[in-house]
Formats: sequence, C-alpha cells, structure tokens
Amino acid sequence: MSDRSALVVGGGLAGLSTALELAGRGWRADVFDAGPIGRGASWAAAGMLAAAKDCAPRVGRHPHLYELAQESRRLWPDWAARVARDSGQNLDLRLDGGLTPAFDAAGVADLDAFVAAARNAGASVERLDAAAARKKEPALAPDVAGAVFAPEEGHVDSRALVDALAACCRAAGVSLHADADVRAVTPGSPAGIEVVVGGDLHRLDADVVVLAAGWRTPAFGLGPKVIGPVKGQIFAIIDVPAGRPAHLIHAPLAYVVPRSNGRLLVGATEEAGRSDAGVDPVAIALLRAAAERALPGLALGQVESAWTGVRPGTPDGAPVLDWVADGVLMAAGHHRNGVLLAPASAGIVADLVDGRRGALAQHFSASRFMAEEAR
Ligand SMILES: Cc1cc2nc3c(=O)[nH]c(=O)nc-3n(C[C@H](O)[C@H](O)[C@H](O)COP(=O)(O)OP(=O)(O)OC[C@H]3O[C@@H](n4cnc5c(N)ncnc54)[C@H](O)[C@@H]3O)c2cc1C
Repeated sequence: MSDRSALVVGGGLAGLSTALELAGRGWRADVFDAGPIGRGASWAAAGMLAAAKDCAPRVGRHPHLYELAQESRRLWPDWAARVARDSGQNLDLRLDGGLTPAFDAAGVADLDAFVAAARNAGASVERLDAAAARKKEPALAPDVAGAVFAPEEGHVDSRALVDALAACCRAAGVSLHADADVRAVTPGSPAGIEVVVGGDLHRLDADVVVLAAGWRTPAFGLGPKVIGPVKGQIFAIIDVPAGRPAHLIHAPLAYVVPRSNGRLLVGATEEAGRSDAGVDPVAIALLRAAAERALPGLALGQVESAWTGVRPGTPDGAPVLDWVADGVLMAAGHHRNGVLLAPASAGIVADLVDGRRGALAQHFSASRFMAEEAR
C-alpha cells in the first residue's frame, strides 16, 4: 500500500475519476460524499460528449475549453473501454456523431457561425444542406433548412458511468464513503478534513485533499468563489413508435439523446442561481415542444420520468483544475461538460498532484478568477 494519500471531497464524476486516476498512479485515495456516491449532477446528466457544439469557442466561453474537450474526447474510447472492462458494466457509449439542425434563416446563420468557430478551433464539422441533413437523420422535420454534423461527438449512459467508475475505484483499492459530510478542509502539510459520519465528527489527514464537491465546492472557503449552481431540468421519452433519431440532436432550445434501450433523453433547462430539485411541468412542456419541433415523431411518445440536477457553473463554462491552498486542489466547475471532460480533467489533477503542470492545465487555473475577485 502506498504511503502517499489523498482525500477526495465529492463522489461525482470529478471526484471518482480523479480518485481512480490517483489510485492507478499508486496513491491511497478515500472519497467522501455527503449523500450516496455519485447522485449529484453526474446522475442527472444526459451524457452528451458534445465537444464541438458545447465547447467550440464563442463569446463568453473559455477560449481554451475546446482544447480540453478535444483532449478528453481523444482519451474517451480507451478510458471508457477500461472502465467498462474493469467494472463489467455496459456504458452504452456511442461515438457516432452529433447533429445540429436549423429550421429558419436565423438558425442557418447560426450554423454558419458555428461551423466557422468550430473549424477555427480545429474541429472537423460537416455543413449539410437540407437534403443531406434529412438523409443523415430521416427523423428530422421535413422543413429542416440545414444542419451541422460533428462526427467527433457522441454520448454515454452517465448513470452507468458513475456506477462503473465507483466499481473501478473499489477494485483499485479506493475507499468510498457515502453519507460522509465534509464540514471543513484544512490546508497544510499534511492537509486535513473534518467529516461527519453517522453523527460522529472525524478529523483525517493526508498529503493532499481534492475538492470535487460540484456546485457546493466554494462552501469550503478555499479558491475562487465563482462556482455557482445552475439547475437543469431534463426528462425521458419512451415508446416512440417511429421517427426516433439515430444521433444526438442539438435542436434549437432542446437536445435529444437516443439511448440504445429506446429511451430518448430531452434536456435541459439552465437556471443559474437555482439549486432546488423541483420539476416544473411548464419547463418540461417547453422542452418537449422544442424537441418535437425538430423531431415530430417524438409527439407519439410518453414522458417516462423527469428529474433535475445542479451543475457546477463557472462564468466561462470551464472548470478550475488547480491548487487552491497548501495541499488542497480543486477539481470543480465542469458546468455543462463534466461527463465529456472527466478523463482529461482527472489526468490534469493527478499530474498536478504529482508535481507536473502541463501546457493545457495552465488555462484552467484558479488565478483566472482570483484576480477578478480581488478587484
Ligand atoms: C440536467 C443536466 C444535464 C447534463 N448533461 C450533461 C451532458 O450531457 N454532458 C456532460 O458532459 N455534462 C452534462 N452535465 C454536466 C455534468 O453533469 C456536470 O458537469 C458533472 O456531473 C459535475 O460533476 P461533479 O462531480 O463536479 O459534481 P456532482 O456530480 O454534483 O458531484 C459532487 C458531489 O459532491 C458531493 N458533496 C457536496 N458537498 C459535499 C460535502 N460537504 N461533503 C461531501 N460531499 C459533498 C455531492 O453530494 C455530490 O455527489 C449535465 C448536468 C445536468 C444537471
């Protein structure tokens, strides 16, 4: 057993993927979650691996987010194969591309802007005219005006991924502690945490503490405070007899993710500042209408269930992967892309723990926000 130890606060995708990476590099790791393991934003996610659509540069978005996404997308196939093999779980990973259709002149102009930005960032995207769009995806409404196809995109069952990662962690010797509410984090050498388990307060020390508590990460008072809750509402449609899309569809105002088991996930609202778990029937109806506008066949399906999750939002949509105090690292703020970014983010954090800061890591520093907060 290694004498290098890490305490990871938060058992979502950020915490689990980091703990697994550290264990693979010979670290002893413990993961603490205030609730069940992995039932935060990671459980709510649609599982899109939407590097081009969600990460290509645009106003307000971190200028290097696409580089991180691209690196993560590069890692995804082998990473997922290892996680699936070691856990024995089917992740329903599909890397068959994502399609962004448009239905009016303004939408077509947006497509052209998207293509320019994506290509400029190095993404290979295909601009399709209306006929080619319908050929690629016959389920689209007949009045589709054009589309962009991003072959690099895909999707995964994020719940299967969470459970598979947890299984891999256990198999690699990581201890997972559910219902373990971390109340305080103390920087230093060693760094420590105070955690309540079963009503008892425990103080634990380790070489490093990794803060991966999703939107609640700023509660520990270390590092940038800008991470904030962004509630998302999402639902599943089943029993669509015909007109199911084959690909991930980024329709205007809603996306649709076709799972292999027949479920179609439709999401999602983005409600900054909200962290409640309420499902609003009006929000679901609006998402459904937007999805049906693009894919009329969905109208015949049934809403199976609706749920919410709270993303760890940041002002530039990108995570903080950095030291934030002596012995304390932050792996939080993955916003809309925590599933996609999991492998690359875990690698960067583990590199930092190992004393290495690569070129990509420089862009996701805590200091990019700290300077702003100090003003
Ligand atoms: C509706 C929706 C759809 C999404 N779709 C996608 C998508 O398609 N693709 C994509 O890439 N991303 C998607 N995301 C974003 C993605 O889910 C998040 O970026 C990612 O899950 C964040 O992972 P995390 O581990 O940081 O946070 P979480 O999964 O929220 O995990 C944080 C964990 O920390 C625990 N915690 C908090 N406080 C404490 C404490 N004091 N002590 C101990 N534990 C604590 C929580 O209980 C929680 O389990 C979506 C998000 C939502 C809400």
